Amino acid sequence: MSRGSDLNKFKVCQRNRPLDTLLERVNKTMNTKEIIALSDQYVMHTYGRIGLAPVQGKGALLREADGREYLDFVGGLAVDSLGHCHPAVVQAICEQAETLMHVSNLYYIEPQAKLAELLAQNSCCDRVFFCNSGAEANEGAIKLARKYAKKKHGPKKYEIITAEKSFHGRTLATITATGQPKYQQGYEPLPQGFSYVPFNNLEALQNAIGPHTCAVMLEPVQGEGGVIAADQAYLAGVRELCNQHGLLLIFDEVQCGLGRTGKFLAYQHYGVEPDIITLAKALGGGFPIGAMLAKQSAADAFAPGDHASTFGGNPLACAAALAAMRTLLDDGVVENCARIGAYLEEKLRGLQNKYHFIREVRGLGLLLGMELTVEGGEYVKRCQELGLLINCAAGNVLRLIPPLIITQEDADRAIAILDTALGA
Ligand SMILES: *Cc1c(COP(=O)(O)O)cnc(C)c1O
Repeated sequence: MSRGSDLNKFKVCQRNRPLDTLLERVNKTMNTKEIIALSDQYVMHTYGRIGLAPVQGKGALLREADGREYLDFVGGLAVDSLGHCHPAVVQAICEQAETLMHVSNLYYIEPQAKLAELLAQNSCCDRVFFCNSGAEANEGAIKLARKYAKKKHGPKKYEIITAEKSFHGRTLATITATGQPKYQQGYEPLPQGFSYVPFNNLEALQNAIGPHTCAVMLEPVQGEGGVIAADQAYLAGVRELCNQHGLLLIFDEVQCGLGRTGKFLAYQHYGVEPDIITLAKALGGGFPIGAMLAKQSAADAFAPGDHASTFGGNPLACAAALAAMRTLLDDGVVENCARIGAYLEEKLRGLQNKYHFIREVRGLGLLLGMELTVEGGEYVKRCQELGLLINCAAGNVLRLIPPLIITQEDADRAIAILDTALGA
């Protein structure tokens, strides 16, 4: 083959714009229209995005490039629990970034050790594995449950029972754990060893437990599935069944944990302790980090080399999370969530009395859902036009997951906008 044809082949994978014009674009501030156009051209179309491009955030407010402001009751999907750019988190990130951003888990990491202590001391668990997202935390939980069962009960125990309408993440194992076929379709063959039961139905769970079952995985309050809280008797019964059959109980608190329901962890409302807890979303105060917590007896199933993550628990992520968790535990944030959550829920019930197409208002703390008898998308759009960002889960549940630091005035403003949107 001639040298020339090799060079031509190489040229097809080269950029078709000179580097300096590309870098010029990187340095230039864009308006909303330009951001949307560029994203649509180059970013993979995995999201059904809303035509809005926030460029700045403070507390419960988001601002677009043109200056338009929104009251943010989506909060990064239950991530921005302290509001946007909380000064304590910003300061911790800046200081840690100047000191040490990343080292390998081959070494001991000070902020990681401190964060692990804080999480263990504020939960029923003893040990923590750090990762980067909720899906990874659940992968870790699935792997630990299988390892534990194999060591304790032999090779035949591997099956994990999860709930219908659950959501556990987007990796292959976690979409399989997720009890919603829409997240699984097209990705077959799926990993084996999962089965599903209706949520809040103890008899169904009892009947589903078989010789291969090793664990039960549940969200104490289902989020994506449409804001559905577990019944007290159900969770207590699940714990009892797990004890009887030697199963590990995994609580996925990726969304409902970390103050969201008005307690530090959602299971604390129920007085029912799991063996494994998964966390992510709000953990880093906006910075990506996840964690899988386990009681000592379960954690003992992992030996060095059994599980790992390159970035998991790195100094920068842990410094951000330490600042976020300190603020959450110290500053009355959880108490504020419980108080404003109850206030907001009551106001939502007021709207329910006014609009016949609101079927139910439900939730805990500031994880609130309003189920409609009609599709919710149109109302999300109207609220946005009026300056309020909300989200719709399960097609017809308007979900409110604002920062936990919102004031009563913020709640009143959101209710006024919702009222106008629902009445239009
Ligand atoms: C969001 C969510 C996950 C997945 O978290 P990612 O960080 O997106 O991987 C898992 N479980 C629950 C309950 C969630 O709400």
